[in-house]
Amino acid sequence: MKATAKNEPVIAEMTSPYVEHQEFPDIVYPTSVTATLAAFRSAFPNVTRLVPEPDDGAAALTVHSGDYVDFVKEGTRRPDGLTKFPLNVIALPELRVSEPRTFEGRHAQYFFDEVTRATPAVCEGALQSAAASGQGARWLAGTVAAQPAGQQPPAMVLVPSRPPGHHALSTVGGGLCVFANAAIAARELSRSGRVVVLDIDQDHGNGTQTVLYDDPSILTISIHAEGWPHVAGFAEETGGPNAPGSNLNLPLPTGSDFTAYAPALETALEAIGRFEPTYLVLALGYDAQWEQGFGALRLQSEDFGVLGRRIAALRLPTLVTTEGCYGYYESTAVAATHFFDGWAEQWR
Ligand SMILES: [Zn+2]
Repeated sequence: MKATAKNEPVIAEMTSPYVEHQEFPDIVYPTSVTATLAAFRSAFPNVTRLVPEPDDGAAALTVHSGDYVDFVKEGTRRPDGLTKFPLNVIALPELRVSEPRTFEGRHAQYFFDEVTRATPAVCEGALQSAAASGQGARWLAGTVAAQPAGQQPPAMVLVPSRPPGHHALSTVGGGLCVFANAAIAARELSRSGRVVVLDIDQDHGNGTQTVLYDDPSILTISIHAEGWPHVAGFAEETGGPNAPGSNLNLPLPTGSDFTAYAPALETALEAIGRFEPTYLVLALGYDAQWEQGFGALRLQSEDFGVLGRRIAALRLPTLVTTEGCYGYYESTAVAATHFFDGWAEQWR
């Protein structure tokens, strides 16, 4: 590991070349990755660039079932024809008289909605993003362990991920998400300390919440608009029987701007302080920006600068993973630039 001057931030990215350059189907919006990387590299010119090793699904298996991971691996080998097929069945238990015999049948079994599609690109990207999340977490833990306690410089690793991950559950994907990247990183980091996952995507991080719900070593927090996925994300969801208080949902009324958002952010930051974590995992979406996400939240791009500064002020070793964005490249790029410039300013 590179020696650094005392307290000089240690910044890295764990970027899969496949995820960086793959043209995913429009609905998965690779602009989140390209805009994030451009903003991040501009804010932190001395970033260490790390490349994940393919792991054949090993990182995904730390939070997902073997049969689901096998299905996604099978998806990498399917012809491109699945990009557009209309899927009108969601295999609720009552519908499943027999075990699915075809890829289409397993597709209905393993995704909880109709928009998430196991194209070869999506499946390969999911495997590589999961691998990068696990390896990025190990890099961060190694960076912290390499310094004497109390003398660690602030450290961050960016793991640009496509498809995104925060809606994916252990046994099924959905909401365009296949593997729960934030949960994979959090589970890995929890081997060497307490972890907080803070999700600032416009939508509730229901997958992250569900995967980690009963783990008292990990606090999951989601600030989101009331709404999608409609069946989770409520304030009364506070953790499983073995982990009371380990989940904090901060739903905001539809259409909220930063006037309503800022107090929720401060509530989240206070909860993080009380939990005294060793690490932070940040699930970074841009769809709370007013032009994106169908207006469910209405943050200005400049508000992302405040988000970057306030979260950086925690000075926690942080892994950042990328979640939602809806294809508006300019507004994504401007929000990402404000976010990482604000972060860098705080750490200077
Ligand atoms: Zn979202």
